[in-house]
Amino acid sequence: MARLVVVENAPALRDALLIWWRGNGRHAIPWKLRPDGERPADGEPLCALSTWIAEVMLQQTQLQVALPYWRRWMERFPSLEALAAAEEHDVLLLWQGLGYYVRARRLQRGARQLLAAAAPGADPWPRTLEGWLALPGIGRSTAGSILSSAFDLPFAILDGNVKRVLARLTASPRPPARELPGLWRLSEQLLDPQRPRAFNQALMDLGATVCTPRNSSCGVCPWQGHCVAYAAGDPAAYPVKEAPRELPFQAIGVGVVRNAAGEVLIDQRLNEGLLGGLWEFPGGKQEPGEEIPATIARELREELAIAVEVGEELITVDHAYSHKKLRFVVHLCTWRSGEPQPLASQQVRWVRPEQLGDFPFPAANARIIAALLAHLQTEPQGLTRV
Ligand code: SF4
Repeated sequence: MARLVVVENAPALRDALLIWWRGNGRHAIPWKLRPDGERPADGEPLCALSTWIAEVMLQQTQLQVALPYWRRWMERFPSLEALAAAEEHDVLLLWQGLGYYVRARRLQRGARQLLAAAAPGADPWPRTLEGWLALPGIGRSTAGSILSSAFDLPFAILDGNVKRVLARLTASPRPPARELPGLWRLSEQLLDPQRPRAFNQALMDLGATVCTPRNSSCGVCPWQGHCVAYAAGDPAAYPVKEAPRELPFQAIGVGVVRNAAGEVLIDQRLNEGLLGGLWEFPGGKQEPGEEIPATIARELREELAIAVEVGEELITVDHAYSHKKLRFVVHLCTWRSGEPQPLASQQVRWVRPEQLGDFPFPAANARIIAALLAHLQTEPQGLTRV
């Protein structure tokens, strides 16, 4: 019922939102602007490449964090051709610190796919939902956001911010994940068909700056007069939350293995999965009843075919992913025998500690590297020898 009332008021909601946005929107976002820094006119296309890269970065990353990455990326890969031809190593290195590295590899695959599908010299950019959904890692909301942003086409969006705003606007009684068809319909019905780019951007800006997860600023909200959650007196009760679930926990034994030359052993993960293609210090899951040093010795034997002497603990790092919590217990190890082989990875390499920054590592490894470098500074032999 609440949804129906909102839909009946769609023209008034659009106007109120766009008036608010003109004076209060986030207008300085660089990929939303023309090269001369001006806001594009209705219907005027924007650079699809910069919009696509930005939208993928923003899938799991906040705007302020993504901005410097986006600037560096566009400088390094200013065209589809540059991205398609790049070494994967360079692509991952540029992404280092953003997390969910699979996104970077999908962008490169997408660039190659777009170029392969386009006739020579033709515009490679899709203008349909299906065209964008055919690219790896592009869902309906990202596709809608790119189409409306880059080409001002009337496609709805439903990212996290928009779900929250719409759930509050209608006081949706169930968690958004259980209401997706209804929320999509609502987003489509509210969308301004004449000004889709401005409307979608305004909706995202409202969610990011006014209808925020905590302490929403209902006093300055252009939709306050139509908002069912506000009228009920408890906007914070929406969106209705799922019952919390305990994340599974796993301890990982990690070996920082050094040889007599003072080099450190790292391996490159296989290309599958969340962290595919990244480098890491070798190790693996602790088995029930196993001590961590035994885990490390076993994993290095099984995955690299080497024997090591497990030494003192270097650091313990806790890291939470969306689906599990990991504890990395890291020990310094001394290589004893066996030529390292990539039995469970793409490749293994001995590198000098000061070279570690040249390789893309998952976020959890940054603290391990820092701890290793700090430890080496305290060793009487200096940076290199074991
Ligand atoms: S009135 Fe408050 S809860 Fe409702 S949409 Fe606006 S900011 Fe969100």
